[in-house]
Amino acid sequence: MPVSKAPRKKTPTSLGKARTDRAVREIAHLINHVTSCVDAGSRAESLYWETLAHATLVKLMTDLNEPALDTALSAAGEMSPDIQDTLLSLCEAVAESQTHELDGQLYETMLVSLPVAVWSRYAIPAGPLDTQLDTLAAIITHLRAHVLAKDAKVAVAPILGSIDQIPPRFTTLRLLCSELTRAALNDEPYIKLPKKLETSAELLADPRFILVGVAVPAGKPFFRWQELLPDKSGDYVSRESCFVTWRTQTRPLFAKLLPACEFEALLPDAFFSAARAADRAVRPHAIQAGVALITDSLKLQPNQLRAVVAAVGDPHLLEYRISFATNDSDDVVHGTVWPVFTAEEEDQEIERVLRAAGVTNIVKHNDMFEPEECEDCGTPLFANPDGEMVHPEWPLDPAESKAHYH
Ligand SMILES: [Zn+2]
Repeated sequence: MPVSKAPRKKTPTSLGKARTDRAVREIAHLINHVTSCVDAGSRAESLYWETLAHATLVKLMTDLNEPALDTALSAAGEMSPDIQDTLLSLCEAVAESQTHELDGQLYETMLVSLPVAVWSRYAIPAGPLDTQLDTLAAIITHLRAHVLAKDAKVAVAPILGSIDQIPPRFTTLRLLCSELTRAALNDEPYIKLPKKLETSAELLADPRFILVGVAVPAGKPFFRWQELLPDKSGDYVSRESCFVTWRTQTRPLFAKLLPACEFEALLPDAFFSAARAADRAVRPHAIQAGVALITDSLKLQPNQLRAVVAAVGDPHLLEYRISFATNDSDDVVHGTVWPVFTAEEEDQEIERVLRAAGVTNIVKHNDMFEPEECEDCGTPLFANPDGEMVHPEWPLDPAESKAHYH
């Protein structure tokens, strides 16, 4: 999240995109509540404004008014990064958690993701798990035993999905959360998947997710690490020990779902938090897998490669793009994107990963590049050693690389 304190504009100018006068008023109130929440001098006041903003967001998402959310977020962005971050984190909260009533009992629900960072020379599996329900059931048994609180009810979407296959909008994600948690409350283990699923981008390293809906009686813990140990010491199970057990116990199960892949299961968590953790975990593997692909295919040593590191943003830093060329040519043969989580994130970690992979010839451009993509295929463009944004062109037969080149 950007944390810089840019000067705040008094009135957002992009409210005109909202569909109706009523929506314009709702968005203006929402922005006002979020701004007041940021300005509040006390936790008590801040919570007051947050509750109002939360209620408006629930209404907008229930009405499936995604354009209003987009408008509010861009208007908030025009005002200050703080306001935009606060609104964004409220949107995430409303999309991934809800309350439901069943038989007079109030339940809190959460969309929980089981993320796995995966890397492979071959296509990384992504899709329904209809034929592997036993493996999925065993994973859920470990989830109940080591990650979720003991009173948690759970239902699962039977798919090992890529981010492309997960509903892309706040409103659609909230619908999925609702469907999963209703199933959990009705003691149904699975939900039905949509007939048509998006295809996944073919990357050397990419996260995969299993999504579950979790419901707990209101006020009760969601996760094992929120529960007191039974020994009356007043201590809690640590998040780390839950993670170690989860990772160990599920390793052979995820191995069945991910043949010919290397992977690292991460700690299950609320959807957005888990998605960021997975994106972060994948970053170094994307570089290592890229270097391995190039050196194996082109019969080169890592020290015969040049890596080009370019900051990309508009105007705030969005990501780094790392491209690879050989020492004797400026042609970019492969590129990988390194997402950042704050606009201030620097590139030392990238350099460390490159050096660890044996690439010592590293060109860093000082300019910020625009986030350009290929108009034909959507592939991001990458900086060559001269600082021009170019399409990566794989020098061999495309069959020798799984990435898309033309
Ligand atoms: Zn292209």
